[in-house]
Amino acid sequence: MGRLTFGADLLEELGEICRRETVDLGWIAGLGAVSKACLAYYDQRKHEYQSLVIDRPLEITNLVGNVSLRDGSPFVHAHVTLADGAGHAYGGHLAAGTIVFACEYVLEALSGPALERALDETTGLYLWKGSV
Ligand code: ZN
Repeated sequence: MGRLTFGADLLEELGEICRRETVDLGWIAGLGAVSKACLAYYDQRKHEYQSLVIDRPLEITNLVGNVSLRDGSPFVHAHVTLADGAGHAYGGHLAAGTIVFACEYVLEALSGPALERALDETTGLYLWKGSV
């Protein structure tokens, strides 16, 4: 468990923690606030991400993610739900560029066979190869 750095890139710092702690299989949860959010939505027909930038303070009402391997290195895949001052929520795939105001996280390292991501032709996404 820990606290992320004010002004850090949320996704990048989570990835750095996984590499530093050598966690390549795990589960992440968090809450807090961001000063700017960069989210993505996967267009299932076009097989491409659309980006959504919300350049204002928001609460992290939920952050959930996993850690597995992509190209042999720990890779964080996370989704967030964020709320504004009126309680309206935004959500999506967490992208680089989301800036931490404050964030408390739990990183749970799991044991078991490594999960490696590879391009899945059906979805166009980098999904886990095989199954566990
Ligand atoms: Zn995603």
